[in-house]
Amino acid sequence: MNRPLLESAAERSLRYLDELGERRVGPSPEAVSALAQLDGELPAGPSDPLAVLDRLDRLGSPATVASAGGRYFGFVIGGSLPAALAANWLAGAWDQNAVMTATSPAAAKIEEIAIHWLLEILDLPRDSGVGLVDCDTQGIFCGLAAARHALLLREGWDVESQGLFGAPPITVVVSEEAHTTVHKSLGLLGLGRNRVIRVPTDGQGRMRADALPRLTGPAIVCIQAGNVNTGSFDPAAQICAAAHESGAWVHVDGAFGLWAAAAPARAHLTRGVADADSWSVDAHKWLNVPYDSAMVAVRDARHLHDTMAARAAYLVGSEQREPWTFTPGLSRRARGVEIWAALASLGRSGVADLVERTCRHAASFAEGLRAAGYEVLNDVVLNQVLVSFGDDETTRRVIAGIQEEGTCWCGGTVWQGRAAMRISVSGWATTDDDVARSLDAMLRVARATT
Ligand SMILES: *Cc1c(COP(=O)(O)O)cnc(C)c1O
Repeated sequence: MNRPLLESAAERSLRYLDELGERRVGPSPEAVSALAQLDGELPAGPSDPLAVLDRLDRLGSPATVASAGGRYFGFVIGGSLPAALAANWLAGAWDQNAVMTATSPAAAKIEEIAIHWLLEILDLPRDSGVGLVDCDTQGIFCGLAAARHALLLREGWDVESQGLFGAPPITVVVSEEAHTTVHKSLGLLGLGRNRVIRVPTDGQGRMRADALPRLTGPAIVCIQAGNVNTGSFDPAAQICAAAHESGAWVHVDGAFGLWAAAAPARAHLTRGVADADSWSVDAHKWLNVPYDSAMVAVRDARHLHDTMAARAAYLVGSEQREPWTFTPGLSRRARGVEIWAALASLGRSGVADLVERTCRHAASFAEGLRAAGYEVLNDVVLNQVLVSFGDDETTRRVIAGIQEEGTCWCGGTVWQGRAAMRISVSGWATTDDDVARSLDAMLRVARATT
């Protein structure tokens, strides 16, 4: 045990977090260049761990993106709640392998409690089968794998044993706005990235329920709760009803949007989502737990369980829920610990407040930008704002200027053919003051550019 080393790590971490409020959000080019000093020959022998930590902090910390702070609005990226970060430190010390009860009764039990709470706060069927996975992409992959299993089982085909060659075909329906990770997952599953029917969307990127094709035979319909650009929701109630008429399976990609269910004023957006057959959602985005953390839930637990089945003499079962029987992997970190800590520390009202507060900040950005004469391209129903500063070239120059200025950080996207800056307010740490300072910086840069 090296107490000075671990105390130094805690000390340095606290200093890092203390300085987040005042530092530039994107790292300076000099800090990024200096990372090269970590390179060199693989050390031939040992070094003092304190010196190793010092180099890492001195060179690594300044080159980080301050996404743990309150003025990072890029992509859809949350921070780490204090309780979740603290739990992460403790769980790091525990170093549990959360594969099964035998390797860690604590990890298995805490995971089970976290799952129970997740299903409750997201208002999903309480007896769903759930796997805690590393990211929403893997959640989609697992949900669609369970779908493939269930649909082909109904046709008398055991896909896990027999494979896909010669299997009855599965029709896959996505919207024009399906997240790229849906296509990636379809590719990994042998269902084909492009072998899909694409349903057109409306002006906010919502799947048009009236354009859903008539389905026959095994079919999967992928919908989303929370468009990555606009934050809009596919009309889940209508689509689930139509899809289920023909026995199709509906998967909901709810990476961040599903958290709207936890906020009473936003929950209406998720109407019908719980009618689906499987769901994937990130915890590392809006719940603000450390990377990497997400979940897949499958209404009929058996289908996820049977899809992930494996056999080895040393994989011992028990009366308990065994984590590995719901995930592709075996050995894994105890990510349920941070989810448990986040939910235990916030409670129902705390999660509702986190979601509602970040949505309100997004609305403030939209209002401020509109008032200054810039065009907000989406209905700001959630935590996502798309803004145009003029023609595409100008918008791109403003985005680059804002990133370089450093007060805040926003990324670019293309929305329905137009360049846009995307503001995503997903971090717990953002305050009214962060919004005011960031808006001020955005407008300063925009005026100087346009
Ligand atoms: C972020 C996101 C994903 C991918 O999630 P990861 O956790 O990054 O794998 C998929 N779909 C949507 C809508 C997202 O916002």
